[in-house]
Formats: sequence, structure tokens, C-alpha cells
Amino acid sequence: MGQVRLTAMGRRRLLDGHPWIYRNDLGKTDAGPGELVPVKSQNGTIMGWGLHSKSSKLALRIVTRSAEQPTRSFWEARINRCLDTRAGAGLLEVTKPEGACRLIGGDADGIPGLVVDRYADRLVLQCGTEAADKMRDFLLGILLEQLEQRGFVIAGVLDRSDATVRRHEELESRVEWLRGDVSMGQLMVDEGGLRYAVDLLGGHKTGHYLDQRDNRLRAAQLIRELGTNGFCPPQEARVLDVFSYDGLFGLLAAKAGAKDVLCLDQSASAGERVLANAQTNDVEGIVRFEKVNAMRDLGRRVEAGESWDVVILDPPAFARSKRELAGAMRGYGELFRRGLQLLNKGGFLVAASCSYNMKVDAFHEVLVKSARDAKVTAHLIDIHGASSDHPRRLDLPETDYLKCAFIRVEPSDHGGAPSAEPELAEDIEA
Ligand code: SAH
Repeated sequence: MGQVRLTAMGRRRLLDGHPWIYRNDLGKTDAGPGELVPVKSQNGTIMGWGLHSKSSKLALRIVTRSAEQPTRSFWEARINRCLDTRAGAGLLEVTKPEGACRLIGGDADGIPGLVVDRYADRLVLQCGTEAADKMRDFLLGILLEQLEQRGFVIAGVLDRSDATVRRHEELESRVEWLRGDVSMGQLMVDEGGLRYAVDLLGGHKTGHYLDQRDNRLRAAQLIRELGTNGFCPPQEARVLDVFSYDGLFGLLAAKAGAKDVLCLDQSASAGERVLANAQTNDVEGIVRFEKVNAMRDLGRRVEAGESWDVVILDPPAFARSKRELAGAMRGYGELFRRGLQLLNKGGFLVAASCSYNMKVDAFHEVLVKSARDAKVTAHLIDIHGASSDHPRRLDLPETDYLKCAFIRVEPSDHGGAPSAEPELAEDIEA
């Protein structure tokens, strides 16, 4: 077995608490690619165990700060903890065979590089590192055993290790069924009473955006509560779901009672699923889909004086690195401004960013500027993160990437379509 030694700097970083060590902070090492190795200080004291990467700048991911070598029972306990927290949050119940959630969240769950999502009776996993590739079968074996013990029957396991992060470790893209296969019919999943189809092989990520689950349910709840302060009741509400993907925000809005929901996305296959999902949930005719470039399309809608009661903006990450942050903040600002301009008096905006590089303070700053630019008085109801099955580790800020703001535009202050209230619109322009 190999080992790594840390430089003085590396030792300090480890003591400071961050579980990732970069190559510059490694001293002498004979660790193999993807190997689980003891991590030693310069004087040879074992400071913990970590998974080594031969080719990534991120050379070491600490698994434990104990000097004891992780054994099978160590990993069993860790996986058990993952399942316990999901079960505790009501996301893993045998009585809900169509449930879906993230079972293992990689580094955030102390299992570096490995993500496993459950969609009904299938698992989809993603290995982001060489170490995860190496440990895949071992960890999957434990996971399947524990799921079985809890009463779950898993009919298929898909390895969708095709994420771009693999390039950091010079790993090839891989998609293969490890158990069962796709020919088992369409996969249906339940979220808050909504049944939807998941495309495990072709869908984004592992097939879906599970991290927005709680925010979708929150948005639906806000729609159910419409009707106070003179604002329209749910059954009159018109909802614009931008960057809709399979349309879950919009479909849940329709289930909450909205009378008209328009989903916008650039993906035609996502659009097909939006309409199929609408049919499954008896909201066809209410939920529509248009394949558009959303940025351009929203500008056109603002110019046309369109108005909506609820606008949902859930774009892809604009800032993929720190260098892109300034441009991304301008992009989000422009997008959120348009969203606010499209809102009716008293309506609400759901505005999300999944760019880890834009921290919550910068996100807040963008919201403030967007409201100012849109010339509306807006109330921040709250900013939420990802659903609880995507844990946020305080010692690993990288796991805290999703921000989702719920904003209500003050009823008395918004001009709406200029033609409807010309005086107010003029005042605002002044
Ligand atoms: N709201 C979704 C997740 C959206 S992910 C949910 O709750 O599941 C972001 C989506 O934006 C993807 O579906 C992607 O196809 C879409 N997208 C990316 N760029 C776009 C653009 N310029 N115009 C329209 N859609 C875009």
C-alpha cells in the first residue's frame, strides 16, 4: 500500500478542516491512482486516510481523520448513515415504491466521488473520480445489501459516469447497466403526488434534477396560498416556468390549481416529457411547452408587455469558474430583472442559481440590483438551498451550491403591462 506525506502547508490545510488537498500540498508520495492511503505529516504521524488521484490537481480527498484504516464496516456505517438520513427525511420509504432521492451524495456524504440516486426500483450511479471507479462495485454491493435489508427490491442499476468532471482525472465517459436494463418499460417516479417519467439514459445528470425537489414543492405551496391581499386565487393564476426541463415546477403548479402554465426550455426531448407528464397527471390543456432560447424569448415577452402571476427561473450554472463570476452576475441580473418585469402586481418570482462560484451574498446582491433595475419593490420571502438529500457540509463549502429565492412583488408598486396602467408606468420611468 502506498502513502502520502503532506507538506507543512498541506498539514495546515488539513488541520484547518477542509477535506480536499491539492497536489502542491503533497510531499513525497508513492500512492497509486485511486488508492485509499494513509495521510502522514512530515514527521510520519498518520493524520487520517484519503483517496488519492494521480492526475487531478485535487490530489487527495480525506475520508477520515482517524489513524485507523477504514474497513468494510467503516463503509457499511457510512452508507447506513446515508440511508438513515434519507429515511429520516421521509425520502426512503418502502411504502412509496415510486419514490426518488439521492441516496449517496459523494463528498458531501463522506463517500468521495460517488453519487447514487434512486428512481423507484432503479439506481443510477455516477463516479467522478478514479477512486470512485475503483470502489464502485464494493460500495454498490454494500448499498444493495442494505437496501434489501430495508425491504427495497432494486430491479436495475445504471452506471452513468458521463459527467464532465471525469475529465479532471483523465477518465473516459462510461454508461452501462450493471444490473437489469432499460427494456423494463417507462420509469415513473412520484414527487409530492405528481407522477413523472424519468429518462435515465438520456436525461440530464442522473436523469433528473432532484436537488430542486423541496423548492418545487415550496413554489406549489405558495401557489395554493394565492388569493390574499386582493391577488388572484390559484385557479386564475398563470405561471411561466422558464428553464423547465421536464416541467416539474410547472406541473406541480398546475396540480396546485393554476389555470395556465407555460414551460420554456431549449430541449425538445424535455418538452416531450413535459407534455407526457401533463397527460399522466390530468393537467393536459393547462400545461403547455415551447422550445425556445429562454434569454432571448424573455426579452421578447417583456417588450410585448406580457404579464404573469408566477415566474420561475431555474437556469443552468452561468459561472462554472471564479473567472466567469462577473459575467455570470450580469447574466443572472438581466434574467431576474426580466422575470420581475413580467410579473403582475402581488405575483411571485422563484429565482435560482446552481453556480457554486456565486455565493449567497453575491446572489443576494444580484437580486437587489434586479429589483432596482426592474423598478419594483420586491420582498424576499426566503432563500433556500438544495433538498435535504443533497447535504451541505460546512467544512466543504463546495457542497453548498444551490440558491433558490422566493420573491413577492409588492402589490401596490408594480406597473404591470404599461398599457394597463399608463400613469404608473410613466411614474416608474421618470
Ligand atoms: N427547472 C428544472 C431544472 C432546469 S435545469 C427542474 O426543476 O427540474 C436547466 C434547464 O435549462 C435545462 O433543462 C436546459 O435544457 C435548459 N436550458 C439551458 N440553456 C437554455 C436556454 N438558453 N434557453 C432555454 N433553456 C435552456
